[in-house]
Amino acid sequence: MRRCGLLSVCILSGLALMACGHRIPPELDRPPETYTVTTGGPQRSMIHLARVETGIVVVDLGWWGAEGALEEGLETMGASREDVMAVFLTHAHRDHVKGWPALRNAPFHMVEAEVELFHGEVHPAGWIPRWAERIVRTDLPERGEVEVRAFSGDTVFTFGADTVRAFHVPGHTPGSAAYLLNGTLFAGDAISSPPTGDMQPAMAGFSDDTSEARQSLHLLRARLEPHPHQLVCTAHAHCSEAGPDFWARVLGR
Ligand SMILES: [Zn+2]
Repeated sequence: MRRCGLLSVCILSGLALMACGHRIPPELDRPPETYTVTTGGPQRSMIHLARVETGIVVVDLGWWGAEGALEEGLETMGASREDVMAVFLTHAHRDHVKGWPALRNAPFHMVEAEVELFHGEVHPAGWIPRWAERIVRTDLPERGEVEVRAFSGDTVFTFGADTVRAFHVPGHTPGSAAYLLNGTLFAGDAISSPPTGDMQPAMAGFSDDTSEARQSLHLLRARLEPHPHQLVCTAHAHCSEAGPDFWARVLGR
């Protein structure tokens, strides 16, 4: 597993098959409080791990090589699978859920509108993931195989003194969510970052409804105002400092 620095090699790398891990922020002499690993696939899919007062929470579950990446991330944090208190899914496209069997004993949090997709009961509406499902079905859990704790709108989850704020941002998929923890917003594929361009709203082809996705980001920007965030990361581990003009730049595209 290759390791590299956030906002440097991982973000700039176009080498989709190379997995790497990085810390947000860098820490030197003890297990990090947060750690992000990327998995393989046409774009590197992120698994983010964060220590909370009661254990470890995980955002998204990656794609190719997800179980190994999870093990590497947990080991780096001095933790094990049993320490994972919760999984938060930004959405249930195949490239963000691959590692579900490894954490099947943890509760899975997602927006109610995403539950059918997570169980493979419906196909994505975006033509690229829809055709991908017709060619090769994703291995997804049947009802009851994992504990799903669905929420229907913006929600705050508490883990002792720590919080994870969840925001419903429909459009890329019906139940797409963004999560704010430790000053970093994990926006899933609600924000995309093409290899040759800057961050922009969810991309056509991959998304159910790009108009709704763009509107969701406008609404999200307003709902985030009371909640400071320093970084915004996509589900493919592209991160940007959330400076004063960040949302204007994203929404201007
Ligand atoms: Zn997606």
